[in-house]
Amino acid sequence: MMEDYMIRVLTKNKQIRALAVRSTNLVEEARQIHKTTPVATAALGRALSAVSMMIALEKSGEKIGLRILGDGPLDRVIAEANMDGEVKGFVGNPQIDIMLNEKKNEKKLDVKKAIGNGELYVRKMMGLKEPYESKIQLISGEIGEDLTYYYTKSEQVPSSVGLGVLVDTDSSVKAAGGFIIQLLPDTPEETISKLESNLNSLGSVSRLIETGITPEELLDKVLEGFSYDITKVTEVEYNCSCSKGQTLEIVNTLNVDEIKESLKEDGYVEVTCHYCNESYRYNEEYLKEHLEREW
Ligand code: ZN
Repeated sequence: MMEDYMIRVLTKNKQIRALAVRSTNLVEEARQIHKTTPVATAALGRALSAVSMMIALEKSGEKIGLRILGDGPLDRVIAEANMDGEVKGFVGNPQIDIMLNEKKNEKKLDVKKAIGNGELYVRKMMGLKEPYESKIQLISGEIGEDLTYYYTKSEQVPSSVGLGVLVDTDSSVKAAGGFIIQLLPDTPEETISKLESNLNSLGSVSRLIETGITPEELLDKVLEGFSYDITKVTEVEYNCSCSKGQTLEIVNTLNVDEIKESLKEDGYVEVTCHYCNESYRYNEEYLKEHLEREW
C-alpha cells in the first residue's frame, strides 16, 4: 500500500506557495474507527486532508484544529493535525443516511447538504500560549470552497483549496487527497491567470488521486508552466495520542453532581475519546487527586 504524505513547495519565481497531500490510508483509518457512512466519510476525509496540509502553513510547535458546525444532519466535523503529521477527527453523526446529488449525470456524495449552513472555525494552538481562533460563515459547505474563502478573507492570502475523497462501492476509501495554492505578495496578473486556467482544466481531485497520482504529480498539474522546489515533506497518518490524563479534560466538563452520581452508581466515571473511541475509567481517588474542582 502506498504511504500517505504531504509536500509543501515554493515556485522558483517565489510567487506561489503550494501544498498537496495523499491521504487515502488515513481517511480509510478514520472511516474504520468511526464507522462512517459514505457521505460522512467524504466530509470527514476532506477535513482531515485539509488539516494535514494547513499545519504546514504554520510555525513549528503548533497544532491546528478545524471545526465545522452546521445545521445539517452531520451536526459537526472536527479535525486536528500536528507538526509530526498526526491527524485525527470525528463527525457529530457518523451514521447519517447516504445522500447523493445528481449533477451532470454523475452521482456525487452531498457533503454540502450533510453539513448545512453554519460556521467554520480554525484554531491555532501554540504550545503554552492562548490558542488563537478565527471563524467564517460557511459559504458552500463543500469544505474546500469554505477554506478558500477562509484563507482569502480571514488570513488575507489569495488561495485555492481543492479536496477530494472517493468512496468505493463497498464504502471503503478508494482515494483521498487535496491541494492548497497560495499567492505570495505582488504576484503579477499573468501568473494569476495562468494558475486560474490550470485550476479550471484540473477536474475532480479525487478522480486524479484515484489514478495513483502522487502529491508531486498533482502539483505538476496545478502548477503547470511553473517550476518549483520542495520545501517540506511529511508522512501523514491517523493517530490519536490520547491518554488518561488528557481525557480528564472531558470529565472536567461535567458538573460535580454528574460526577458524584456516576461514582455512586458505577464506582467510576467513564469517558470515551471522540477521536479514537478509547474509553478511560476514573475512580474517586484518581479524580480527587487530579481534578481541580470543588467537591
Ligand atoms: Zn483518543
